[in-house]
Order: sequence, then C-alpha cells, then structure tokens
Amino acid sequence: MRALPASVLAACGLIVCACGGAASSGSTAGQAVEQAPARAGGASTEHTAKPQADGTGAASRPAPAVDEPAAVPLDGKVVVIDPGHNGGNFRDPKAINRQVNVLTKWKACDTTGTATANGYSEAAFTWDVSTRLAKILKSRGATVKLTRSNNTGVGPCITKRAAIGNRNKADAAISVHADGSATHNRGFHIIMPKKINGPVDPVVNASSSLGKAVRDAFRKGTGLPYSTYIGNKALDYRDDLGGLNLSTVPKIFLEAGNMKNPTEAAKFQDPRFRQKIALALANGLQQYLQS
Ligand SMILES: [Zn+2]
Repeated sequence: MRALPASVLAACGLIVCACGGAASSGSTAGQAVEQAPARAGGASTEHTAKPQADGTGAASRPAPAVDEPAAVPLDGKVVVIDPGHNGGNFRDPKAINRQVNVLTKWKACDTTGTATANGYSEAAFTWDVSTRLAKILKSRGATVKLTRSNNTGVGPCITKRAAIGNRNKADAAISVHADGSATHNRGFHIIMPKKINGPVDPVVNASSSLGKAVRDAFRKGTGLPYSTYIGNKALDYRDDLGGLNLSTVPKIFLEAGNMKNPTEAAKFQDPRFRQKIALALANGLQQYLQS
C-alpha cells in the first residue's frame, strides 16, 4: 500500500487502466519466471497448518475414516497463477505497448493496470493476493508457478503469461486482476474463454467449470457481490484476451472487484481481506481440481 508517485497515476490514466482488457505480460528480457517453491514471500497467512501426513493416525491405525480429507489434497496438481500487470510497467511504455498477436486481434503486450483513488495499484494487489494464494495451494500439496517473480519488473507479455501455463501443463491457471470502473460500480466477475477456432477451444468447457467453482467460492469466502456492471451472475466470456485465447490449459481471469469503488478499494487495501480472497480462490481451485 505504498503511495505511487504522481507519474504513475498519470501514466495509468493515459494508458488504459481498466484492467479487463489487458491480459498480461511483457516479455522483457528474461523476466518471466517460474517461481520456485521457496518464494511466496510476504504473505502472512492464516492458513498455516500444513496437514500432517499422518499425524495422529499412525498409532491407532485401522480406522480408515470415511470422510477424512486427504493430507495434501492437491498433491500432483499443477496450478499456474498469473498476477496481472507488473509494478514496473509504467516505466517502460515501449515494451508494454508493443503489439502482440492474440489470435483474434493484436493488442498491447501488457498494461499498467488500474489503481485506487489513493494510489494502491492493481499490480501490487494482484502480486500480494497471488503470493498468498500460492502459499495456501502449496500447503495443500500443489505445485505452483507464478508468471512473474516480483512486483518491480516489467511484463511479461500476455502471450508469455499464457505460454507459462501451457509449458507447465497446468491443471488450472488463474490470472488475478481487479477492475477500474465507474465509482458506483461494484462487485467481482470471472472471465472465461470462448471458442475461437484456436488452441483454447479444447479447454473452453473445463475453463467454464473452473470459473463457476471459483465464482461460487469467491462469493462465499469474500462476501463481495456479483458484478453490478459486467456479466451474468459474475460470469463473463471473452475472446479478446491473449491470456485466455492462447491457453491450452483450463484458465480463467478473476476481476476481484472495482478498485475505483471506495468500499471495495478499502477492502483491497486490508491485508486480512486479501488473505480472505486468497483463501477463497484456493478453495475454488481445489473444488475444481478435485471434481
Ligand atoms: Zn488488470
């Protein structure tokens, strides 16, 4: 929650802050990154208890509890998390504005993203939520990759962000964003891919299932309303996002809410609420991955 210099806000205003359009990524020099398990920095999480592999069970063995949850329910699952935008994007408009082919159109490699009225940036928000989410998913046994390794760099391009999910053969991929809309607009929505006679077609149905699972868990876990201005019951389908069009793995975008709405902006700046968001997302992903 640091204040951004005025130049950032200015750049943001010029470049298109509204996030929905901007899928992601700027391929600048070698920056994209598979994040190794160690990192998840900074997320203080309520979700500590890594379920003990066997914990109590060993001594009193035969008692195959009927509904005892698996110790690490996401063991063997790969999740790619794409924290939308990047904190350094405003510094390199040339790299960010480079046009890339997203199959249905050409668009900018990435954008700066939006920000709250007092300067809390979407990039900082998505980075924080994503690292919290990564930590929770790892504690449940998943292998997690992030599409960027910090919030100070530039990019990568949306094309590359999609490629990271593909290369890792993700069982599920999620791009985390928050919107910048008119101040009275409220609520969250999930964006899912449409068939485009392209590589995403085979995973359109799975992405839709993933989207519904995350929509339900997000609503339940955060209490945020369905979007009052986009989609139907918080579900939206698009064919203009590179992060979706180029994905060969089940993938969705989350627009967590409207950063320009004072109520939602205040929530997003509260670390406890961001933890709540991360936990809700983890639950939605798990629901999908175990179905
Ligand atoms: Zn965004």
